[in-house]
Amino acid sequence: MIEGHHFEDTHDLYQNAPCGYITIGNDGRILNINNTLLSWLDFRKDEVVGKKTFQDLLGMGEKIYFESHFMPLLQLQEEVSEINMELRGNNESRLPVLINAKKVPASSDEQTRYRLSALDMTQRKKYEKELITARKEAEETTQLLKQVNENLESFVNVASHDLKTPLSNISSIIYLIEDQNLIEPGSQAEELFAGIKKNISRMTGLIHDLLEFSKIQNDPDSITYEPIDLNQACKEALDILDHEIQKTGAVFHIPELPPVMGSKVQFESLFLNLFTNALKYRSEAAPVVSVTWEQTGTFNTIRITDNGTGFDPGKKDEIFEFMKRVHSKDYIEGTGIGLTICKRVVENHGGCIGAESEPGKGSTFWFTLPVVDEDEFF
Ligand code: ADP
Repeated sequence: MIEGHHFEDTHDLYQNAPCGYITIGNDGRILNINNTLLSWLDFRKDEVVGKKTFQDLLGMGEKIYFESHFMPLLQLQEEVSEINMELRGNNESRLPVLINAKKVPASSDEQTRYRLSALDMTQRKKYEKELITARKEAEETTQLLKQVNENLESFVNVASHDLKTPLSNISSIIYLIEDQNLIEPGSQAEELFAGIKKNISRMTGLIHDLLEFSKIQNDPDSITYEPIDLNQACKEALDILDHEIQKTGAVFHIPELPPVMGSKVQFESLFLNLFTNALKYRSEAAPVVSVTWEQTGTFNTIRITDNGTGFDPGKKDEIFEFMKRVHSKDYIEGTGIGLTICKRVVENHGGCIGAESEPGKGSTFWFTLPVVDEDEFF
């Protein structure tokens, strides 16, 4: 032995290698097999060598494949690699293996032989099976979740519709009572009546928002994609808010916005909710709302900045949750649904949404949307 080097016993290296070795003749007869493969298959050497063919270790389908494809290819190419097979061991046990094979040409004293190595694929097959099961389970869960979501949404929809009619009847009665001055000014009844009015208006708002929410599904596949002019979507929102804009003296700065693909109604709803909030959560000063945008890589970021009350920056994620409100209920009316709708719209269109603020210093709501190739769509 040369100092510093360790020569392994080649016999041991062959017999106890971490993979199986088998040598076969032209007809598949097994000429040699190493201990590793023998122990995997649970055979003794004398049961196999000279007694069995490689085909004997295969199932019916693989036997045909071996004879019609594998051997002809090996004879022709002299080498084949990474062929999946399943070897049958003693007691019909099965061993999934990956076979590599090489031809050893005939010599003066040896006929043509073929050396095959077999890698044990049991673990790999197990992982693959687990992966397939896990993927199937995940798909089933997603499907179930979708179903539950749809049921929930249709419940919200039906319940809101059913509540709408009696509520509008109550509202009509209230206005009738008011109109006919049936409540004595300064009486206790007037105070109670004011309470009823406030609650009815809150409930009307809630039903309106719930209906809007159920209209916008959390599903990008439900969208009919069309080219959208975001400036037009802003204009629709501003038209609806016209009365509030006049009342508060609000000013909106809106530049030429980039084109997007998506749902027109959803984008109108997005701007309507964001602009409504900019007016609702205003400070003492007249609202000034600025829309800006920039392109970063494959996304456009659109920002809506106001000079309103702002909010606690620690709540910047919470405010997008369903029915989450940061301001006290009595201070400004609302349902906590508007920003959840905005989040749905943006996510349905492949973007994300966020907000930044400091109390008393206004807020910026931003959202991203994938850049569209104008030549392709417009
Ligand atoms: P709502 O306005 O009906 O309460 P939203 O979902 O639209 O519901 O908003 C959630 C919360 O986020 C609001 O209750 C408010 O506290 C905060 N918020 C939203 N927009 C603004 C804004 N522009 N300025 C300050 N706070 C805001």
